Amino acid sequence: MLPTEKLYYQDAYLREFTAQVTSKTALADGKFAVVLDRTAFYPEGGGQPCDLGTLNAAQVIDVRTINDEIVHTTAGDPGDGLLTGRLDWRRRFDHMQQHSGEHILSGILLANYQAENVGFHLSPASCQIDVTLPSLTAEQATAIEDAANAAIFANLPVTGRFVEQTDLSAYRLRKEPGKEFLQIRLVSVEDCDCCPCGGTHVSRTGEVGLLKIRSWEKRKQNIRLDFVCGGRALDDYRQKHELARALSSRFSAPVEGTLAAVERTLEKLAATQSQLAASRKSYHEELAARLLAEAANHGSGDLPVISRVFVNYSAADLQDFAARITAGGAICLLAADDNDGGRTSLLFAAPTATPLPMNELLKQTLSPFGGKGGGNALSAQGGLQGGDAEIILSSARKLLELKKQE
Ligand SMILES: [Zn+2]
Repeated sequence: MLPTEKLYYQDAYLREFTAQVTSKTALADGKFAVVLDRTAFYPEGGGQPCDLGTLNAAQVIDVRTINDEIVHTTAGDPGDGLLTGRLDWRRRFDHMQQHSGEHILSGILLANYQAENVGFHLSPASCQIDVTLPSLTAEQATAIEDAANAAIFANLPVTGRFVEQTDLSAYRLRKEPGKEFLQIRLVSVEDCDCCPCGGTHVSRTGEVGLLKIRSWEKRKQNIRLDFVCGGRALDDYRQKHELARALSSRFSAPVEGTLAAVERTLEKLAATQSQLAASRKSYHEELAARLLAEAANHGSGDLPVISRVFVNYSAADLQDFAARITAGGAICLLAADDNDGGRTSLLFAAPTATPLPMNELLKQTLSPFGGKGGGNALSAQGGLQGGDAEIILSSARKLLELKKQE
């Protein structure tokens, strides 16, 4: 049987075609594996994901090269004989824009920084290359981006051709072919890049539209660059523009003044937080003194117990208050109600060992309410979603009382 004719190499812009079924196998779950005499569906390979679309009315859900055959997996029976194939063109053109952009970027990185592309990852969420660069500065990234976009705006021709191994020396290749071959496909971007590649590409660089490097990170001894081209760059710009507009409106500042407005707001917030912390400390000091004095008046020899519910308190606030109570020689049972999240936090602390250790008291208190916590004999912390803080603390007091009576 002749190998499937690869229509995507004759015309990367072919969106619809007819072909004869040469083999069809029923798979599990109503799926079929279909081989055609010719196809415009690109099978996954070389970092480029496969095309999707339809064969007659059946959805094409995967296309792969298996033992030199291009196998289309369909979600239903596409029929027999002559079929009509239709590509999900948005997806394919997106892959062409990203993949051609990747070649342009790689050509520039090699020419200007002697950095080799050693990995390409294209997915619906991201487009990344790994390059042999020890580091990358923001200025270098901007220069690389400018050079890539200059090549895009120059609308250079992009061509794919098959060559014999013996003719290969005529080309300046970005990378050598990985293995021996009879014929290999080279993709070249005029004056910019030439390398072995089996992917589908735009015919002129202008169709890549725009290339934006979004971020980069160190990856072992390489740099992984994350970039977007074409429609993805437009989506990215649109999303960020909307965000910038929403922030500008929220902070009542022009877009270019938003960052300064955010910084001013954060400074005010930090100042307010430190004022609040300072006034809470002096409140804690007075309150602890008053409660300890009251508890001492009712003292009967055992450690006095002070319990209190606070609203919108952080763990640090609770700890500050607990430290003052235990320093005054009393057991404290504290709860904080978080009005926003509906969470109740608990902090139990004792100045010395007690018949019922604090972690045990917390465990027994929380068990009917379904919360979690831990700690040691002198201090335990925990919490639960929802719950009435007053009821929880009174149950803890009762448990302590019971233990005392044992
Ligand atoms: Zn390629």
